[in-house]
Amino acid sequence: MYLVFARRYRPERFEDVVGQQHVTRALRNAVESGRVAHAYLFCGSRGVGKTTVARILAKALNCAEGPTPEPCCECDACRRIAVGTDIDVIEIDGASNRGIDAIRELRQNAGLTAARSRFKVYYIDEVHMLTEPAFNALLKTLEEPPPHVKFIFSTTDPQKVPETVRSRCQRFDFHRISDADLVGALEDICRTEELTVEEGGLKAIARSARGSLRDALGVLDQLAAMGREVTLEDVLHVLGAADARLLAELVDVLAEEDTARALELLDGALVGGTSVEDFAEQFARYLRDLLVAAYCGPEADALAGAAADAETLARQSGMFSADQLTYMMQLLREAALRARRETTGRIALELAVVRMSRLSELVPVQEALEALEGGGNPRTSAEPKAKGAPSAEERRRGAGPLRRMKDKLQRAKPGDPSPSAATAAPEVELPDGVDERKARQLAACAESPEVARSALQEEPLMQAFIQADKTLGLSPQLLRKRAEQQAEDEDATPPEQQ
Ligand SMILES: [Zn+2]
Repeated sequence: MYLVFARRYRPERFEDVVGQQHVTRALRNAVESGRVAHAYLFCGSRGVGKTTVARILAKALNCAEGPTPEPCCECDACRRIAVGTDIDVIEIDGASNRGIDAIRELRQNAGLTAARSRFKVYYIDEVHMLTEPAFNALLKTLEEPPPHVKFIFSTTDPQKVPETVRSRCQRFDFHRISDADLVGALEDICRTEELTVEEGGLKAIARSARGSLRDALGVLDQLAAMGREVTLEDVLHVLGAADARLLAELVDVLAEEDTARALELLDGALVGGTSVEDFAEQFARYLRDLLVAAYCGPEADALAGAAADAETLARQSGMFSADQLTYMMQLLREAALRARRETTGRIALELAVVRMSRLSELVPVQEALEALEGGGNPRTSAEPKAKGAPSAEERRRGAGPLRRMKDKLQRAKPGDPSPSAATAAPEVELPDGVDERKARQLAACAESPEVARSALQEEPLMQAFIQADKTLGLSPQLLRKRAEQQAEDEDATPPEQQ
């Protein structure tokens, strides 16, 4: 009979449990010193080992050679407990046995001594799903527990477990398993199964599993069914994940402000089976890694490992400013939220990509002014803002959108080509350190017809733009006026002369 990996490789001993050493160590000590509590509450997300640890604890208590922190795993009790069929270790699924009847029965039976073992162990999974009467009945047993009875409750949602129950239990919080631990566990199984997975594949599986070993093993099951040699492409296909190489290319084309190519790449990913929500999340994680790499280097521990390799990460980490990356992540988050609520998620994501490909129009005022001030490369003239900030070299390498914004600014000489700028911009209080003349230049540039027009075509873009330039007194009315002028000019002039 074929057993899925999660069951075939369910840990049998405390030391085999992945990523929950803080729990297993405490339980081993409790068994060793004979101080096992009569009720435990295991909290944690799905697939992190709660049921596994409950069974190991039951074995430790009821093993023929026990109680012992190292159950033999061979006696009748150990073997039956391991597969969940022992008559003295009763597993109840709280989600499907929510009623009081189940708990009444439990209470009646708890009064009886164990049939063949030392202890009667009740394991109630998803205990928060029990109804209130069921909880009340359970509480009576918890208040006066027979000495031979142990309770182990588990829940993915401890807040929903009544305080009266929680306070009578010793609580353990299971952690999400780290990617490194997941990869380690997957590697062990691949070795035993003689399964070869291409470089980066296991890491991708671990990332997608978000701390759940069960989910990670589920993916490995699917892959193993496809053959003994698994390529990275297979992995990504099964995960429905966007290829890191595609994300890397997308970052490059966004920095080049190549909107058409960016949309093509997005289309390719979605056609390839990645959902809008997944894509938005994966790309946001990629951008977050760029941000982390800019400050902590391409090998930092804090990286989520979203990029294909450290080299790409190092090359791309200086392409955008921290503000721009944060803004892009925010756009992606909004798109993902909309995708969850509406069927038009794809459009939201496309709009986000369009905006990300036009960042030079959204460059922060202060930064643009500094670029003008320095006259050289954007931001190299300013002192680094924080310790560990991107080096001058990193900043110089990238900053495509910044450079273009600067070029635009330098083209906009005071007094021309937009005579209204100096006169139309209302008197405003400029932030400290902002040169008024420079501010006027920027305003002139911002009011240039093509910028105004593109801003007006997209309401949120205009909003963001206005937000960024608020201190310069640019009003939507002003932009609209410029846009109307532009439209009139266009009507009067052949397009090639624009
Ligand atoms: Zn045993």
